[in-house]
Amino acid sequence: MRRRPCLSLLSFVLLIVCLSPLLVLNASVPAAAAGPSVSAWPAGIFVVRVYYETAEDIGRLSSFDVFEYNNLASKYVLAAVDRAGFRQLQSLGFRVAVDEEETANFRLLSIPLGEQDGAVGIETIPGYSCYRTVEETYQAAQALATNYPSLATWTDVGDSWEKSVGQSDGYDMMVLKLTNSQIPGDKPKLFITASIHAREYTPAELATRFAEDLVTRYDVDADATWLLDHHEIHLMLQANPDGRKEAEAGRSWRKNTNENYCGVTSTNRGADLNRNFDFRWGCCGGSSGTPCDGTYRGPAAGSEPETRAVQNYMRSIFADQRGPNLTDPAPSNATGVYLDLHSYSELVLWPWGFQSALSPNNSALQTLGRKFAYFNSYTPQRSYQLYVTDGTTVDFAYGELGVAAYTFELGTRFFETCTAFQNTIVPANLPALVYAAKVARTPYLTPLGPDALNLALSSTSVEEGTLVTLNATINDTRYRSGTGEPTQTIAAAEYYVDTPPWVEGAVAHAMAPVDGVFGSTAEAVTASVDTTGLGEARHIIYVRGQDAAGNWGAFSAIFLTTTPTAVELLSFTATGAKKAIIVNWETATEIFNLGFNVYRATTEGGTRTKLNAELIPSVTYPGSQTGGFYTYTDVTPNNNRLYYYWLEDLDWFGATEWHGPVTARRNR
Ligand SMILES: [Zn+2]
Repeated sequence: MRRRPCLSLLSFVLLIVCLSPLLVLNASVPAAAAGPSVSAWPAGIFVVRVYYETAEDIGRLSSFDVFEYNNLASKYVLAAVDRAGFRQLQSLGFRVAVDEEETANFRLLSIPLGEQDGAVGIETIPGYSCYRTVEETYQAAQALATNYPSLATWTDVGDSWEKSVGQSDGYDMMVLKLTNSQIPGDKPKLFITASIHAREYTPAELATRFAEDLVTRYDVDADATWLLDHHEIHLMLQANPDGRKEAEAGRSWRKNTNENYCGVTSTNRGADLNRNFDFRWGCCGGSSGTPCDGTYRGPAAGSEPETRAVQNYMRSIFADQRGPNLTDPAPSNATGVYLDLHSYSELVLWPWGFQSALSPNNSALQTLGRKFAYFNSYTPQRSYQLYVTDGTTVDFAYGELGVAAYTFELGTRFFETCTAFQNTIVPANLPALVYAAKVARTPYLTPLGPDALNLALSSTSVEEGTLVTLNATINDTRYRSGTGEPTQTIAAAEYYVDTPPWVEGAVAHAMAPVDGVFGSTAEAVTASVDTTGLGEARHIIYVRGQDAAGNWGAFSAIFLTTTPTAVELLSFTATGAKKAIIVNWETATEIFNLGFNVYRATTEGGTRTKLNAELIPSVTYPGSQTGGFYTYTDVTPNNNRLYYYWLEDLDWFGATEWHGPVTARRNR
């Protein structure tokens, strides 16, 4: 979370205002002498700042409910404690201070049933009507699969713990897969899990809205369309449904609900699923071996059915692209992106979490992390920089499979207000998720390149054969400011019509810099698109740019609709003959033409009289011709009188077009 820079205001009065929410209690001084007595501490559970000296100190907090938050500048983490926990922290030698603002936020989650803010439906989370419950999330996903069967499937990939032991209120572990199934083939994959920590409300809803946004924009927005045509997006919208159900009732529930750990009815029971994954499970002091603890890693790697469902699913969609040693890098052209959505503290995290040493793909992971952070303005850093964790989702995805893997810590509290969620979290993060899908083909390469922005066509619907001007901006500077990500000048830009470069037969067309020379880190580019032969169809124009280091960036796309050329006449003549006038015409193109009618008038603007009895040619379905020669002989005109002849062509869709007039006199 971001704290207001109160101290920089340098006003003594404001300084007091800033500090007043903090009840500072230093463990080195007896509490009674330090200030308020024990009885003045908040009752129940409250949130404290636990100040540390070294990162290792944080490792000694595993028996506490430590949030996914670390103030690196002031060197403290946040933890929820009761009075006994507070004393325990002090006795461990930590300096501890009550954070009243965070305490107030934390207590928002225990709003009792009945105090709903106009909630929609009985299931909606009390007080938080913008967050769908497990049941509502599942219904929304099922609705997408039902309403868009060629784009969405909703699949059971395992059981929650409660279901696995036969409890009636357990859940299936479900995955929503989005792709245009009409287009076959092996496609790059983005996999997202959300709310694996139950009390983190925003992740599941963000993932659900991402899915709904993509599917409903298919055929409406060019980017959503090509992403679903050529990629697969897999979403486990509720990665801990049993635990989530507890959190929906207002409990600060993080783990699953496994009754074998910490007692059947204890509200501290369960395993922390995000410490239960196979890779480096329990290796490094980043989890707890005590069943009642918030980061209890379970009795064995992958002991929990939810963990196994996620792991098995990942292994089923991603090939193992990384060698067995910690120092083996995934190849630079490795494919696939995995995102684990959590809350809170506005971070983008990448492996490793279990050790401070850099992963062998750290440079590329960092580049994409800084790119994500451009969109959501979060802080990009290695997971370890939050604090040490082991057995986590992202270390597994990257460590075991070589997939580019990230944790997003959304927002500024577990139970984010709907206002903040809808006005800030959704708009800041949807573009990051779209970008993740765009680069899933080669996540270690594409994010190095520039973005293609502001695509525009001089006309979005033209008759084929018309030249259309395509404009765009190519920008290589879009990384979180201050991260030091290298940017280069733009060196090239190109566009493709309908067939992107990963499909056979793709043809690249160069785009030129508007100012005549490539040389800036952001360049306006342009091209004249020849639409000859594009027929009647809606096309996708793909645009991308390359920087001076040779990196091609992600594509953006725009729709262009072309309509068939109306009949184009090469010649149209009327010639006087003996007792007749011969009308001839020849066509260059007559795509979708049904045929012609010949009309005659006695003056140029006079009434036109149709002469032929049936359409010329006299077939009902002439098809799409590229040209033809036609003749009509008018035997009815008077001698030596000037006549005006018109042609009317008629297409399959009932549209007509007039050609003419041409004139002639009948000879003797
Ligand atoms: Zn979490």
